[in-house]
Amino acid sequence: MALRFYNTLTQQVETFSTLHDNVVRMYTCGPTVYNYVHIGNLRTFTFQDVLRRWLRHRGYTLDHVMNITDVEDKIIRNAAAQHKSLAEYTEVYTQGFFEDTAQLRLERPERVVKATEHIDDMAATIQKLTDQGCTYVSDGSVYYRISSFPTYGKLSHNDFSGIRAGARVDVDEYDKADARDFVLWKAQKDGEPAWDTPLGPGRPGWHIECSVMAMKYLGETLDIHTGGVDLTFPHHENEIAQAEPLTGKPFVRYWLHAEHLSVDGQKMSKSLGNFYTLRDLVAKGYAPETVRYLLESVPYRKKLNFTMDGLKAAATSIERLRNYKLRVETDKFASGLNEKITERTRQATAAFDEALDDDLNTAGALGAVFEYLRDTNSAMDAGEFLAGNIPAALEFLDRFDSVFDVLRPTAKTGGLSDADVDALVAERNAAKKSRDFKRSDQIRSDLASKGILIEDTKEGVRWKRQ
Ligand SMILES: [Zn+2]
Repeated sequence: MALRFYNTLTQQVETFSTLHDNVVRMYTCGPTVYNYVHIGNLRTFTFQDVLRRWLRHRGYTLDHVMNITDVEDKIIRNAAAQHKSLAEYTEVYTQGFFEDTAQLRLERPERVVKATEHIDDMAATIQKLTDQGCTYVSDGSVYYRISSFPTYGKLSHNDFSGIRAGARVDVDEYDKADARDFVLWKAQKDGEPAWDTPLGPGRPGWHIECSVMAMKYLGETLDIHTGGVDLTFPHHENEIAQAEPLTGKPFVRYWLHAEHLSVDGQKMSKSLGNFYTLRDLVAKGYAPETVRYLLESVPYRKKLNFTMDGLKAAATSIERLRNYKLRVETDKFASGLNEKITERTRQATAAFDEALDDDLNTAGALGAVFEYLRDTNSAMDAGEFLAGNIPAALEFLDRFDSVFDVLRPTAKTGGLSDADVDALVAERNAAKKSRDFKRSDQIRSDLASKGILIEDTKEGVRWKRQ
């Protein structure tokens, strides 16, 4: 079957196609850079990475835009408390975001754009919304009048027919059940940063930045817009309301939302002590790819309960995958080709593809991989897996890893290069040959302390990183 996604707008699973040629025009709400991102945010970004990779597998190219929210209430408050400029303050967390996402092996979108570099575009769009009769001014700030947009609520499927006209809100995030006229342009307050525009000195609200940057780079209608489910209302609802009156066209064709992540069954919060960034988990000794595996193992529309046991299980799964690959690459198999294994590999590939085509069912795809590992490991034990079956098995693993990306171990900082390890392994072999067991044991334990395991097998010595 064809590639299909659940669309929040229609509440249905729909076959995916692009509007123009085979380029997917995709927008992602990026981080608000007032802190290091937590694993709940990273779950959403990891889903987007899997989505990118699978779209490419299906023959599409990507034009993917992500914004960096670098002006916003919390940022202004924190920067002032630290006596820093906005730029100084946000630079630290913008770089931190790129470091964390690189550690998780998330591809960088084709364009990453900052809100503060698009203030004039936002002011111009607000002016156009005013020309359309969608706004009003109060105390120097400009508000969006949601009663001017009759289909407000169509994304979150809320009925806002009872809204109080004129009730408005200045903050960017507000009560989920409560539709309010929201701020597009905030008049300057004492001590706050401001930009001089035809709207008067002030700064943009959060919602306007995404509509403006999305349409500037991707055109009036996007193929895909993604984000965390908590952004559906009000943020994404507001994005639609800001875009569609100007174009008369649908703003987005497929809305994809990633579900919440909880920790030990509870909402993650600093006060509960269950709040984690990637940095916290790496400091506890977990490899970034272990975190990646856990985040991508649960399909994005299911709630993910993050636990330390889950992380340990993820590490074990990665270990099994790496051991299998090592076995395929280094065991000696009898020559020939077993057609049954060829057919089994074809089946596994089809099951893997079908699972990902089905709204990115990552759990199903992993299931297909592990069943294949079990069956072919048994075939190897029974001498039925032949040398001619190696290339297809490795190709299947490559296919898996081009999406999940966990087979390559992250080099430990201050660790040994492969060449260093090879040299030490050779020295250990020589020591054993000359019956210097003290030296050979010493090298083995030194390597083990650096996370490198040596295995003596029938085919000789091989080593791997833990
Ligand atoms: Zn956004």
